[in-house]
Amino acid sequence: MFLGPPGSGKGTQATGLADERGWIHVSTGDLFREHLRRGSALGELARGYIDRGELVPDRVTVDMVRERLRVIGAGTPVVFDGFPRTLAQAEALDELLGELGRGVRAALLLEVPGETLVRRIAWRATCANCHTVYNLKEKPLRVAGVCDRCGGPVSQRSDETPEVVRRRLEVFERDTGPLAAYYEARGVLARLDGDAPVDEVARRIAVALS
Ligand code: AMP
Repeated sequence: MFLGPPGSGKGTQATGLADERGWIHVSTGDLFREHLRRGSALGELARGYIDRGELVPDRVTVDMVRERLRVIGAGTPVVFDGFPRTLAQAEALDELLGELGRGVRAALLLEVPGETLVRRIAWRATCANCHTVYNLKEKPLRVAGVCDRCGGPVSQRSDETPEVVRRRLEVFERDTGPLAAYYEARGVLARLDGDAPVDEVARRIAVALS
């Protein structure tokens, strides 16, 4: 799993790692955004929390992950991105994985200074279809608004205004920060310096996993 504040590179690295190794990428943020687009009841429930930069309640989030894991089955390794985000979710995940005879193998904490996070998010845009994340300053799209990878629509997320980002960073510190100690006590935590180019961070992740 990837732990790290918004803008730390979790989505980019989790997507790359899953692609490279044939693992399954599970991003709770992407799952919620899919529900929002489909206009499902779960999406409507999540909308207010997401737009304010608050966490969706644990019970709702865990139920969604349980359903996703049920569909995935027990065979393939999963890369979690943005889950768990609270201690209650971490405990629920242990239970869910235990039922499947699985466990958490590695928790990768991407550490990035606050000013880098804010700068990255200001330039960030996401494909609504394949969820590829772009930094429009460092790597402009070949065609504006169109995903290089799948041709889907690329735009800025509605929860990436400066005010909501500030709140998301506070919520990360308060609720998700304590997870580092939780996984450190279990000997599966790796702290990685995420303030480097994408390929270099990917290399550090590979070393940590090996
Ligand atoms: P992300 O794409 O991971 O930045 O998530 C976007 C938003 O979705 C978050 O700010 C939360 O509102 C919600 N969200 C995503 N994952 C979780 C989670 N594990 N628990 C609660 N809310 C979540």
